[in-house]
Amino acid sequence: MSLNPLAAAAAALFALAGAQSAAAQAPAAAAAQHFRLGAFELTALRDANFSPPNDAKIFGLNAGAAAVAQVLAEAGAPTDSIAMSIDALLVKTPGHLVLLDTGLGPAAHGVLVASLAQAGVTPAEVTDILITHSHGDHVGGLVGADGKPAFPKATIRMSVKEWAWMQSQARSKDLVLAISPQVKTFEPGQPVLPGITPIAIDGHTPGHVGYEIVSQGRKLTDIGDTAHSAIVSLERPDWTMGFDNDKTVGAASRRATLTRLARDHELVFAPHFPFPGIGRIEAAKDGFNWKPGFDPAK
Ligand SMILES: [Zn+2]
Repeated sequence: MSLNPLAAAAAALFALAGAQSAAAQAPAAAAAQHFRLGAFELTALRDANFSPPNDAKIFGLNAGAAAVAQVLAEAGAPTDSIAMSIDALLVKTPGHLVLLDTGLGPAAHGVLVASLAQAGVTPAEVTDILITHSHGDHVGGLVGADGKPAFPKATIRMSVKEWAWMQSQARSKDLVLAISPQVKTFEPGQPVLPGITPIAIDGHTPGHVGYEIVSQGRKLTDIGDTAHSAIVSLERPDWTMGFDNDKTVGAASRRATLTRLARDHELVFAPHFPFPGIGRIEAAKDGFNWKPGFDPAK
């Protein structure tokens, strides 16, 4: 058994990037940014930064690094790597303190718990954790550096399919053992908590979901890993993605989900877009643009 299973899990995930591991990147500064959505208080929480090289192993698998570089250059971004954030979302409802995803975890230098502290919340106060999917940058923080549950009083919720898949992955063995007593599964499409409904978004992992959060007529959707880069994934949604288990279905889901979000002018939280990752999707040419910002009145 590895001394440091989470770092190993993160390394396995990010091996695709050609990076040694996410832990090789400098730790991010903790950050927490608050928003109000109806009766809910939302807080975007920073965990880490991750910038894989532009080598066509993650972004633009079927397009090539030169095409990806061109899209990045047109957006005024560096062309040798693709900058991503790793963030989580805290939702304070009248009855629950809910965390959506948990970042890489302290073993891989995630700073989520410090960001949570900036929001005035201790891990023991979190009542529910909603997981979009079981990649290391979303579930790594479920345990502390000691491998023990980091949120001891929380119910950990994920889709039936995702939990089955996570349990089948050898690299997740230690994590599965640690969190099993806390896990409750759901079928997407029905509320899991008052005002929060998981929606299946297929392709990224077998049971990947987004979460629709609704309070007093205001709505925000956490899209999980439907799109990873606010530039490349939006402008070229049909390009295939190395992190998607089913690359064809992932690309089709990305196009369909972004089309709906743009049409409905919906507020979005995207855990890998620049912190705090909240804004709207706008249709543009053959793809989409990201309009960061929070305006719950619309
Ligand atoms: Zn991710």
